[in-house]
Amino acid sequence: MTLASTARGRDRLRIAIQKNGRLGEPARALLASAGLAWCESRDKLFCHGESLPVDLLLVRDDDIPGLIADGVCDLGIVGRNVLLEQAGEREEARRPASSREWRALGFGGCRLSLAVPEAWDWQGTAQLAGKRIATTYPNQLRAWLRAQDVQADVVVLSGSVEIAPRLGQADLICDLVSSGATLAANQLKPVVDILYSEAVLAGPVQPIGDARAELADLLLRRIDGVLRIRDSKLLLFHTARDALERVMQLLPDAEPPTMCVVDGSETLALQALCHGAMTWQRLEDLKRAGARGLMVLPVERMLA
Ligand code: ATP
Ligand code: ZN
Repeated sequence: MTLASTARGRDRLRIAIQKNGRLGEPARALLASAGLAWCESRDKLFCHGESLPVDLLLVRDDDIPGLIADGVCDLGIVGRNVLLEQAGEREEARRPASSREWRALGFGGCRLSLAVPEAWDWQGTAQLAGKRIATTYPNQLRAWLRAQDVQADVVVLSGSVEIAPRLGQADLICDLVSSGATLAANQLKPVVDILYSEAVLAGPVQPIGDARAELADLLLRRIDGVLRIRDSKLLLFHTARDALERVMQLLPDAEPPTMCVVDGSETLALQALCHGAMTWQRLEDLKRAGARGLMVLPVERMLA
């Protein structure tokens, strides 16, 4: 096996994921839920797929769009922020897009935000004119500034953006924010979000054209199945026929339930797949509305 082999002549699918960092573990967990299992190589760069001919390449997140563009990998799991930044870079260089988002995966959520020193009295984007903004996301920031019709200086840094205002390198920053704790620790406050990001499955712009297309399709269907039931639960309960409407009003996130009649005709037994969180509060509300014998069961797999 040689990692230098590109798409041509490869019959196994190759997926790039982050080796460490925030997305590495959840990406593996997602792929494992989709039925993939691997044998890890000693250098921990390459994992040979054992259950399906799908291998993993463990890399830095920033390398993933490029690996797809070069055909070294077929798919990748990466933050939308990274994918769009590299797409922006290609656009600036007038090179055609080479990878795109295939699916949003629902983890690694964060925002690319502008953050200003806490003492600033923020009044709106016009205030940015002539200011220096430090970022590691220059392409997205420039595109956003153009769309706002604001002229500001983009100061490109390779890391530790949040200390740039204190070091006098910039007036404000444009960086990823999730809880906001890092900003607060640096006496900064977020004022505008320019992108909502999460982990995405990235793939080539052109459909995969050979035997690997079937594998990619299979994987995609399984991932869709995993995503669909991620927060889903199977709810079992009984209810009197005349309370049914009241109970179902409390389950707007449920698929049409399966029902059968018990005890002659007045009591119904139901099972419903519910997509939202099934909290104690919800169960108590359902009970008050007339549901009895409520049982919440985990859903492990689903194939539509
Ligand atoms: P690598 O060593 O692979 O280059 P990294 O340090 O660039 O890792 P991480 O900090 O692990 O990257 O972040 C990976 C991705 O996690 C980000 O690109 C982003 O999509 C997402 N993410 C979620 N929340 C945050 C956050 N608060 N700060 C940074 N990234 C976040
Ligand atoms: Zn990185």
